[in-house]
Amino acid sequence: MTRPIKAFVDTKALKANLSCVRQKSAQSQILSVVKANAYGHGIDRVFEGLKGSDGFGILQVGEAEVLRGLGFRGPIVLLEGVFDPRELEDCSRLQLWHAVHCMEQVDWLSRHKTHKAHRVFLKMNTGMNRLGFRPEQFKSVWSRLNALPQIEEISLMTHFSDADLPGGALSQQSRFDQFTQDLIGERSLSNSAALFLNPLNHALHQDWVRAGLALYGGSVNYPQQTSADWSLQAVMSLRSKVIATQDLKAGDTVGYGSTFTAKEAMKIGIVACGYADGYPRSAESGTPILVNGQRTRTLGRVSMDMLSVDLSPLHLQGHIEFVGSEVTLWGTASTGQTLDIDEVAHHAKTLSYELMCGLANRVPFEVIEDDA
Ligand SMILES: *Cc1c(COP(=O)(O)O)cnc(C)c1O
Repeated sequence: MTRPIKAFVDTKALKANLSCVRQKSAQSQILSVVKANAYGHGIDRVFEGLKGSDGFGILQVGEAEVLRGLGFRGPIVLLEGVFDPRELEDCSRLQLWHAVHCMEQVDWLSRHKTHKAHRVFLKMNTGMNRLGFRPEQFKSVWSRLNALPQIEEISLMTHFSDADLPGGALSQQSRFDQFTQDLIGERSLSNSAALFLNPLNHALHQDWVRAGLALYGGSVNYPQQTSADWSLQAVMSLRSKVIATQDLKAGDTVGYGSTFTAKEAMKIGIVACGYADGYPRSAESGTPILVNGQRTRTLGRVSMDMLSVDLSPLHLQGHIEFVGSEVTLWGTASTGQTLDIDEVAHHAKTLSYELMCGLANRVPFEVIEDDA
C-alpha cells in the first residue's frame, strides 16, 4: 500500500458552517476569509462550499488569481492591502478591494495610474497595535484618500485583539465608533469570535463580517464552548492507518526519549503520521485519537513520520488484526465518529488555526462533494 495518510475537505460542512455564520449576522454581508490557502484547506478545494459568500478576504494577490480563475466575479479584499506599489496594478487588473493601513500605501496610491478607481478599506488601529492608523489620525487620512482620483469608495475597518474574551470587542468597537461617526462608508469590524460571541449585534457586525475559523469548523472559544456547541461541523479530517503493532511488557518504553513506560502488558499501534505531516510534536502522551472510530490515546513522542497509539481498549474488546485499521487524527472517521480538532490542538497547547494551516504539503487531499 502507498503511505496511507490523507486529508479530507467536507463541502457539505462548509456550506452548513457558512449558513451558521449567516444566521449570526443576518443583516451583514459575509467576506469568507481564505488567506493562508484557505486555512490550509486549499482555496480550490473550499470554493464549491464557500462560493455562496458575498466576497472573500485574502492576503496575497496569488489567492485572488485563484479565485478569479475559479470564476468568482464578486468582491475580493486584500486584508493587509498591497505590500509594494506594483501590486496596485494587480488590484486594478483583478478588481481587488484592498486595505489601506499605513501612509506608505496612501503615497503609493497617489502615484498609481489606473483607469478604474479603487475601493479601499481604511484600517483603524483600535488597540491590536499591528496594522492601522491611530484613531486621532483617521479622519485626516480619510480626507486625503477621499481627495485622490484613484479612490472610488472608502470603507472603514478595524480588527479586534480580544474578540474571544467576553465583552472583549466592545471597548475597541466604541473607539472605532467614536472616531468614525461622521465619516461615510461601509464598515467591517467582526471576525468569527466577535460574530459568535455577539450574535445578531448589528452595531458590531455592520456591513461586512470577516469570517474565517468558524467556516472551517473551529470553535472561537474552546474549551468554554466546542464547535458542536456552536453547531459547526468539522471541515478538515486527517486520517491515516496503523502500519505496525508492538506487544509491550510492563516496563517497556515507547518512542524517542522513552517518555512513555508501560505499566503492564499492552498492545500499541504505529500510525503513519508524524510532525512532518503537520501533526503537532507538542502533543504529549494522552492526546485523543480514533482507531476504527473508537477513541483512544497517543503514547510517547510524535516522531517525524510516525506516532504511537494505545490499542488496549480495542484489544480488550476482541479486535485482533490492527494493521490497516483506520486512524483519525482529527475530524470525522469514515464511519462517522468525530474527534474535535480543537481538542487535539488544546492537548498540543495550540489552536485549531495552527493545525489547519500547518498541514504539510506531502499530505494528499480528497474533497468530499456535497451530493445533496
Ligand atoms: C484572518 C482575519 C480574519 C478572520 O479571522 P477568524 O478569527 O479566522 O474569523 C478577519 N479579519 C482579518 C483582518 C484577518 O486577518
